[in-house]
Amino acid sequence: MNDKTNIIPQTRWITISECGNYEEVEDAIGLTFDLDWACDAVLEDCINLVDEADVPATWFVTHQTPILERLRANKKYELGIHPNFNHLLEGKGSDVESIIDELLTIAPNAKSIRSHSMVQSSRLMDIFLRKGLSYDCNHFVPEQSAIELRPWKLWNGLTKVPHFWEDDATCIYQKNTPIKELACRKGLKIFDFHPIHVFLNTENIERYETTKYIHSDGNALLEHRYTGIGTRTHLLELMRFFK
Ligand SMILES: [Zn+2]
Repeated sequence: MNDKTNIIPQTRWITISECGNYEEVEDAIGLTFDLDWACDAVLEDCINLVDEADVPATWFVTHQTPILERLRANKKYELGIHPNFNHLLEGKGSDVESIIDELLTIAPNAKSIRSHSMVQSSRLMDIFLRKGLSYDCNHFVPEQSAIELRPWKLWNGLTKVPHFWEDDATCIYQKNTPIKELACRKGLKIFDFHPIHVFLNTENIERYETTKYIHSDGNALLEHRYTGIGTRTHLLELMRFFK
């Protein structure tokens, strides 16, 4: 038996705004969640799991809901923003600044941003900075690349914080490294989860796609939760093992 999995490593859990001092976040683990307009039942379920594990997390908010009070009340949590610029790319919607401004009224203390679909550009990054944001989380460098990650500073002073694991990407990649092995890797280890995938325990994107019509109905959705190894079990394993 490979006893690498039996050694419980010393783990430092961090939130995104702790990534300004690179040396201090070396080898740390960061949990992040893109809320993606999930309904309250789905958000509540996810928050319950993380509350119970009592680990720090960064939550990228997409919309106003009373559930956010629970996140604001927990000192281990931090709110970032998760704007959707996709409509602009399709020639619809308003403008970048109003989209960011609206989210900043929901999370006025936000220092970090990850765009929906990771939309980014140098012009956007200048706007992020002007809006008072300091951390851009729009770089996904998959764990499969085996690149040791760390945050870096951009020309304008914005700090880039890359993530190496994303629940939906894990469903698509043919080969994924087991969570316990990943969390023992060198370098900064930021995980990106989505509450809807946590709720469904998504193991295959089809599960997500075919249940879209009931994504706002927690009870109906519960019947479609996968019972094998999926996003939910990955999250629980990560939080329990590395606590
Ligand atoms: Zn998103």
